[in-house]
Amino acid sequence: MNLHGTSRIGDNQHLWIGGLDTVELAKKYGTPLYLYDLSLIKNRASGFKKAFEENGVGYQVAYASKAFSSIAMFQIIEQEGLSLDVVSGGELYTALQAGFPPERIHFHGNNKSLAELEFALSAGVGCIVVDNFHEISLLKMMSSKLNKKIDILLRLTPGIEAHTHDYIITGQEDSKFGFDLGNGQGDKALQEVLAFEGFRVLGIHCHIGSQIFETEGFTLAIEKLFGHFKKWEENYSYFPSVVNLGGGFGIQYTSEDTPLSPEQYVSAMIEEVKKQMIHFEGQDLPELWIEPGRSLVGDAGTTIYSIGSQKEIEGVRHYVSIDGGMTDNIRPALYQAKYEAFVANKMNAELTQTVSIAGKCCESGDMLIWDIDLPEVCDHDFLAVSCTGAYGYSMASNYNRIQRPAVVFVENGEEQLVVKRETYEDLIKNDVPLKSNVFV
Ligand SMILES: *Cc1c(COP(=O)(O)O)cnc(C)c1O
Repeated sequence: MNLHGTSRIGDNQHLWIGGLDTVELAKKYGTPLYLYDLSLIKNRASGFKKAFEENGVGYQVAYASKAFSSIAMFQIIEQEGLSLDVVSGGELYTALQAGFPPERIHFHGNNKSLAELEFALSAGVGCIVVDNFHEISLLKMMSSKLNKKIDILLRLTPGIEAHTHDYIITGQEDSKFGFDLGNGQGDKALQEVLAFEGFRVLGIHCHIGSQIFETEGFTLAIEKLFGHFKKWEENYSYFPSVVNLGGGFGIQYTSEDTPLSPEQYVSAMIEEVKKQMIHFEGQDLPELWIEPGRSLVGDAGTTIYSIGSQKEIEGVRHYVSIDGGMTDNIRPALYQAKYEAFVANKMNAELTQTVSIAGKCCESGDMLIWDIDLPEVCDHDFLAVSCTGAYGYSMASNYNRIQRPAVVFVENGEEQLVVKRETYEDLIKNDVPLKSNVFV
C-alpha cells in the first residue's frame, strides 16, 4: 500500500488525508468526491523552485493548468509564486477570474483562434508560445493592428519523444505541435519572427512527453537544442534568453512507477545546460522554464467513491461497481492507465479477494481498475482511488448525464469545498426546449 503525501491510516482504520477522515468527508460532501492534499502540492512546488534557486539559475515554474484547473487551484498556484500555462480562452478566463497576474501566464496551443489571441493580448499575458506559421501570421496582423510588441517563445519539436522508461529519437517527429527542427521549419520560423519588429523573441519551448521517469530524454533534448542554437548564433546572431523545457515529470501511480524527485529532474537539466554553455562564450545562461502539470497535482488527488453493486462470475471475474467511473476518470479507458485503490473505511482489513472495479456508465470499457486485491466489501464501504489529481476532473464529462463530482481541498485538519457538485439543473442549463409550432 503506497500512501502519498499526508495520507495516513487513522486509529479508526480509516484513510485520513490532510489531517481529516476521508470517510467523514465523503459522508459530508457525497461521492464521488475529489480530495486534494494541499501540502503535497506545495511541497512539490517548492521542490521545483528550490532546485533552481540553489543553482542560482533564473527560472519560471509554470503549472500546466490542463492537469486540473479551477479558481481555487489557480489561487494556490499564485500563492506559491508559480507561473501558469493555459491552452484555451476558457483556461485563461478562469485564471483571470482567480486574479492570477496575467504577466505570469503563458499561452499555449496548436490552434489558438483569433478571438483567443485577442483575449490573451488584451489581458496582457506574459508570452505567447507560438506553435505554427498560421499563428505567426495572425500575431503579425494583431501586432500591427494594436501597434504592440508581442513577447513570444517558439515551440520547437527537437525529434525526441520520451515515454516513461525510454525515449525515441526520430529524425522528423510526427507531431501536431511546434516547428520541427530536423526539417528546417524551426529555422524558417525563427527567421520569420526575427525579421518582424513587432515580436520580442524571448526564446524557445519544447515539451518532449509525459510521465517521464528518467533524465536522459531531457538532457538529449537540451543537447539537440543547443546544437541548433550554435547555428542560430552564427547565422542569425540570435541566442535565446529563455529556454522552456516543458513538463512531463512522472509520478507514482502504482509500485511499477519509479519517478525521480523534482530536484533530480531540475538538477540534471541545469547541469546539461551549463555543459552546453561552454560552446557559447560571452552569452548569459538563459532563464530556464519548466511546466509541471501531473507532478504538481497528480498524486495530491484522491477520489472517494461509494461501493454499490457486485457481480461475481464464478471462475471468471468479480466485478465491484462504484458510483463514478469514466465520467470522472477517463484515463483507464483512454490510456489503459493503472491505479491503486483502498477501502477507505477498512484500511487494515485483510485483502481476501481479487476484484475488478467497474464504473456506472453504459460502456463495457468503463472499468477503473482490473484485478485488484481488496478486503470483503459491501454497499456501505468507500473506495479511495489514489493519484487522481491530474487529468481526472479536467477530463471529466457528463456522459450518461452524470453530474461532475465535487472537489474539496484539505490541509492541516482544514477543508474547503472548491468546486461544487453539479446538479440535475446544471445538466440541462444549456438545453433549449423546442418552440411550439416548429418541427411539427
Ligand atoms: C501537458 C503539457 C505539460 C504538462 O505535462 P505533465 O505531464 O502533466 O507534466 C507541459 N507543457 C505542455 C506544453 C503540455 O502540453
